Amino acid sequence: MSSGKSSITIPFGLAVLIALLIAAAFLLNLRHCRTATDGAELAALKSLDQRRAHLLRKMEDKEERGFALIDTPKAFEANLFKIDQQHFLPAHLAGITNHDVPEETASLAFQKGVSLLPSTNAVPYFVTASRALADENADMYQKISAMLNLIEFEQDPRLAAQVLIFLELPTARLSEAQINFFRSMLQDSFPNLNEIESRQHELLELGEQLRKTVNIRKGAFRTRVDDLILSVRDDEYGLLYAPDFDLGETTAAPSGLSRELFQGAHITAPQEALDQEKLQITQQFHMANLILFSCALPAALLLCALAATLNRLRKLDAVRTEFIATVSHELRTPLSLIRLHAETLKHGRLPKDKIAGYHQIILTEAERLTGMVNNVLDFSRMERDQLQIHPEPTDLSNLVHQTADSFEDRLAHEGMVLERGIEDGIEAVVDPLAYSQIVFNLLDNAVKYSGGSKTVRIGLDVSDGGNTLSVADQGIGIPDKLKPRIFDDFVRSNDRNVSARRGSGIGLSVARKLTQMMNGTIQVADNEPDGSVFTVRIKS
Ligand code: ADP
Repeated sequence: MSSGKSSITIPFGLAVLIALLIAAAFLLNLRHCRTATDGAELAALKSLDQRRAHLLRKMEDKEERGFALIDTPKAFEANLFKIDQQHFLPAHLAGITNHDVPEETASLAFQKGVSLLPSTNAVPYFVTASRALADENADMYQKISAMLNLIEFEQDPRLAAQVLIFLELPTARLSEAQINFFRSMLQDSFPNLNEIESRQHELLELGEQLRKTVNIRKGAFRTRVDDLILSVRDDEYGLLYAPDFDLGETTAAPSGLSRELFQGAHITAPQEALDQEKLQITQQFHMANLILFSCALPAALLLCALAATLNRLRKLDAVRTEFIATVSHELRTPLSLIRLHAETLKHGRLPKDKIAGYHQIILTEAERLTGMVNNVLDFSRMERDQLQIHPEPTDLSNLVHQTADSFEDRLAHEGMVLERGIEDGIEAVVDPLAYSQIVFNLLDNAVKYSGGSKTVRIGLDVSDGGNTLSVADQGIGIPDKLKPRIFDDFVRSNDRNVSARRGSGIGLSVARKLTQMMNGTIQVADNEPDGSVFTVRIKS
C-alpha cells in the first residue's frame, strides 16, 4: 500500500507545483505590469522634464538675445532707457520718441521676408524677434540681409547700430566671412561705424550695471547709476536720464518683449501618449493573465481531480486495511472455538451427554468459517473479474433448508427462533454453492443485526415466473438513506449496533454479484413492525 501512496503523492505534488508556478507567474506578471507602467510614467516625466528644461534654456537664451541695450550715440546722449525686470531698451526704441517707419520701407522689408510693424516700436520687435526666432545660420543671414536692405532705404544710423548689435551679440551664429561681409557693407553706408562700435562697449557696461541695479531692487525706486539717474516705477517701468534732462510727456511701451514671444509656447505634457502607453501595457498584462488563467483552470481541475482521487484512494486504503484486520479477526474466532472444542474432545474427559454438543459447535463454527472464507474468496475473484458460477438444475427447497439447518444451533444459542416458510419441491437452475452462499450471508446478517429473543423468517416460493427467497428479521433495520448503498463494497452503517458487531462489509456485495450472475435481483425493504426483509428473485 505504501508504494501506492507514493505514486499518488508524486502527481499530487506536481499539480501543487504547477499551481504554485502559475500563482508565481501571476504575481510576476502583475509586478512586471506595475514596473512597466511606472517605467512608462517615469520615462514620460523625464521626457517632460527634458522638454521643460529645453524650453527654459531656449527661453533664457532668447531673453538674453532679446535684450536690446544699445542705442545710437545720439540716443545715448539723450541717456534715456526703458527698463523693466528683464529689459533695457533705448528710449526711442521703446516708443518714448516718435519715429514711424515709413510705409514704403515696411512693405519692402515685408516683401523681403521680414515682418515689420509700421512704427518705431517695430524695430526692437523686429530685432528681438529675428534673434529669438532665427535658429539657423541661413535664417539669420536672411534676416540680417533684410535689415541691411532696410538700412539702404531708411538711411538711418540707428538702424545701422541695431545691425551692429545684431552682428556682435550672436557672433557664434555667423561665420567670420559673413560678419566681415556685413561689416564692409555697413562701413560703406556708415563712415562713423568704428565710433559707433566703440560706444557700444560703454553701453554694454552701462546696461549690465543697470540690470544689476534693477534686479536687486524690488518696487519703485530712484537711484544714481554712474552719473545718471535711474528711476523705476511700481510697474517696473523705468527711465534713465541725465539729471538735467527734461522728461516731458512719455508713453509706456509694452514690456517683456522676448518673454511675450514665448507666451504661446506652452509645455504640453504628453499625458495622452502616456495614457495610451499605459493602456497598451495593461492590455498586454490582461492578455498574459488570460493565457495564464487558461492554463490555471485545467491545472486547477487536474489538481481537484487528483485530490479527489487521492482522497478516494486513501479512504479505500483505510477500508482495505480495516477489512484485512476484520477478516483476520473474524476467521480467528471460529478457528479458536473449533480448536478449543476439538482439544477438549481429544482429551476424552468430557461427560458423554456433552460430546454431541461439542461436535455440533465444531460443525457450526466450521460452517461459519467456510461461509466467511467463501465470501473472501468470492470477493477477491470479483475484484479480479474471475468470479465464475456453474449453474445446474438444483432442488432449491432442499438447498435453502440445508443452509437454514446450519444456523439452527447458532440461533438457538442466541435465543432466537428461525421460522421457515419454504415451499417444497422448488427446482431451479442455479449454482448451488453460490445460492447457499447468498442464503448464508442473508441469514448471517439477520442473526448479527437482530439479537435478543427475536424471530428470523426464511421463505421460498414460486412467483412471477421465478422463485423468491426472503429473509426477514426483527432487528435494527436499515436507514432509508443507506439502503441504496448497502450492496456496495465495504459499506457499513454507522449505527453503534452495527459497529459493535464484527463485519467486513462484503457479504451483501458478494450476494448481489452472485445473484446477478444467476440473472436474479436482490432487494431490501423494511420489515413490519421492525427489522429488514431481503428478497432474492431468480427467474426460472
Ligand atoms: P457486514 O455485515 O460484514 O458489515 P454486509 O455486506 O453483509 O457486511 O452488510 C453491510 C451492512 O448492511 C452491514 O454492516 C449493516 O450495516 C447492513 N445490514 C446488512 N444486513 C442487515 C440486517 N439484516 N439488518 C440491519 N442491517 C443490515
